[in-house]
Amino acid sequence: MIQSVCILGSTGSIGQSTLDVIARHPDKMSVYALTAFSRMTELAQQAFACQAAVVVVPDCAARKQFEQAWHYSAPCPEIRQGKEGLISVATDTAVTTVMAAIVGAACLEPALAAAQAGKRILLANKESLVAAGHIFMQAVRDHGAVLLPIDSEHNAMYQCLPTEAQISAPLAPYKTIERLILTASGGPFREVDPALLANVTPDQACNHPNWSMGRKISVDSATMLNKGLEVIEAHWLFAMPADRIQVMIHPQSVVHSMVEYTDGSVLAQLGQPDMRTPIAYGLAYPDRIASGVGMMDLLQLGRLDFTPPDFARFPCLKLAFDALNSSQAACIALNAANEVAVDFFLNEKIRYTAIASIIEHTMEQVEKHSHDLASIEAVLALDAQSRQVATSYAHSLFFVH
Ligand code: NAD
Ligand code: MG
Repeated sequence: MIQSVCILGSTGSIGQSTLDVIARHPDKMSVYALTAFSRMTELAQQAFACQAAVVVVPDCAARKQFEQAWHYSAPCPEIRQGKEGLISVATDTAVTTVMAAIVGAACLEPALAAAQAGKRILLANKESLVAAGHIFMQAVRDHGAVLLPIDSEHNAMYQCLPTEAQISAPLAPYKTIERLILTASGGPFREVDPALLANVTPDQACNHPNWSMGRKISVDSATMLNKGLEVIEAHWLFAMPADRIQVMIHPQSVVHSMVEYTDGSVLAQLGQPDMRTPIAYGLAYPDRIASGVGMMDLLQLGRLDFTPPDFARFPCLKLAFDALNSSQAACIALNAANEVAVDFFLNEKIRYTAIASIIEHTMEQVEKHSHDLASIEAVLALDAQSRQVATSYAHSLFFVH
């Protein structure tokens, strides 16, 4: 059967890589729907190139921009709008496979809707698992959705599992796994004098040594909050307690992660740092297809290094472990505060070092109360409340250039 794919967040880094892989396999897969929040001209180009039937845009103004950008002879795709539009394509009966690649908690509702509709979900977005892993994984179980991790570390660990352990939402760690080992590049500031970090710019923070990614996740990689979010993501995907998830800095970024078994074996997945490999794996699973990624030359690389992360240099990583060990509310606060703080940093309102302070403050405030987070509405309400706390605290940290 030909897969019919919906790409949530098609204009982003993951979205573009997904379109690249799909275009290599017209006999196996096609695009049904694309969605984007901005860059309507680019969305129109993509929709024309892959002959998408539907696009989703955020509002009326974007709809007009899309219509103006559609100067092709082919008929304009159907245009849907807003959150309802995203949910409608994620659950559309014409769609078999949903690539969840919107950045941030904005992906939560459409990804959850895809799970409730029993789709095959390629999950690139990690923020939705951090905010609502308890609800999302239950929906995958209840509705028989197929969940394939695309985040390179989780995709690597998934590839290192025996087939019988490759289930979409396990309730307990697989019996013979001791630990999961997540590798991290350490980002652009791995060796920068911590005293200089207060003055680094957004462009410096986004200048990742190995991966080319969207700006938000690039800043997350610099602070290593990204690795923290990934620890929480691994906790949900593999039902693994925090104390059995280890983070290692591996600056070459070719060992994408590892799984340690009871007999002392450690299995790793290696490859070039290019997201088209995990995307192709997810699209073709359980088969394999060409991804456009070149072969890795270990001889040219010569060596692989591994060191422990330094929590003093990367306080955000520590905060993420604290959140996971503490409560679901703390995880929601961590993620929401980080989204707010990174946005302010990218807009040059706060210093890089303020990101950790804002997260810590927001977690403390949220944890003063107990929260019932059994419903998605409650999760979204606490997410909104955390954003308010983070925003007003961030204002007190604004700096003048
Ligand atoms: P990006 O910023 O390049 O793209 C984000 C996409 O989401 C764009 O299409 C944008 O239009 C859309 N979008 C943004 N805000 C939205 C909103 N409020 N509502 C609807 N759509 C919105 O991001 P990216 O680097 O492609 O990352 C996407 C997700 O995948 C993130 O959750 C990230 O953590 C995860 N991820 C990315 C990479 C990578 O290599 N880029 C690797 C692993 C995981
Ligand atoms: Mg990753």
